[in-house]
Amino acid sequence: MDPVLLAVYVAILLWSASWGSFLNVVIYRVPAGLSVVSPASRCPHCETPIAWWQNVPVLGWAFIGGRCWTCKAPVSMRYPAVEATVAALGLAVALPWVSAWAAGEVEPGLAAGGIVAEQAFVFALVAIAMIDADTFLIPDSLSLPMPILGVGLAVLLGEARDLSWQQAAIGAAAGGFGTLAVQWGYSAMTGREGLGTGDVKLLAGLGAWLGPAALPPLLLAASLQGLLFAAGQALLGEKLAEERGLASMRHVALPFGPFLALAGIEWLLVGRRLAPALAGLLGG
Ligand SMILES: [Zn+2]
Repeated sequence: MDPVLLAVYVAILLWSASWGSFLNVVIYRVPAGLSVVSPASRCPHCETPIAWWQNVPVLGWAFIGGRCWTCKAPVSMRYPAVEATVAALGLAVALPWVSAWAAGEVEPGLAAGGIVAEQAFVFALVAIAMIDADTFLIPDSLSLPMPILGVGLAVLLGEARDLSWQQAAIGAAAGGFGTLAVQWGYSAMTGREGLGTGDVKLLAGLGAWLGPAALPPLLLAASLQGLLFAAGQALLGEKLAEERGLASMRHVALPFGPFLALAGIEWLLVGRRLAPALAGLLGG
């Protein structure tokens, strides 16, 4: 491989892994209403500040053997897992931009802007998914900027991303108002609340970043994956419940946000490139 390209990829990987490290802080502190800037990370068990070398993404956790250096309390596998996932996602987001730049199709500044913006979108979705899975809530600080930034980005980079600002604005409105209508209809019919207001803002954001055409396949993918996950959970849950003599675990509620976020990432990375080919196959 060309050494310049290799260096670019390594730099993007390190940059993305550092974002993974920061996302761990966001996922832990934002729902608790704490600052993400200060104080520096501490062991939640013995409160000893974590040294910089223990904070190196993935490797830091491996160095300390998954235990606090001071009090030996176990440190969750989730931290290195989030860092590794975010690093891989950051690289995947960058790949098409880097190859377009290497082929001379886009200016380096535009490619860098596209990478940073789309990574911000994907990293925010990772944080939203994890926080919603933990707390059943999507923080406004993460979901509200999304539609605004999505339309703003389309103004700046619309042509390079094949998404005009008009499409982004229609996508935001379709995502937000469409979900509101579904939500209203569902609760009018059943007297229960289906989707949360966090999901409404999240869908407005997804519509703004991915365009209105992405919303139907995105909702379908999110629903299918949510159902699959629920089915798996029910099967495993029944087994666990039987083993332990517990009552059925079938009715454990499941938040929809993580599946929407997952479908959004899948659409950005794979779906939007696959969709035209699929449509062509079905049409001809
Ligand atoms: Zn400790």
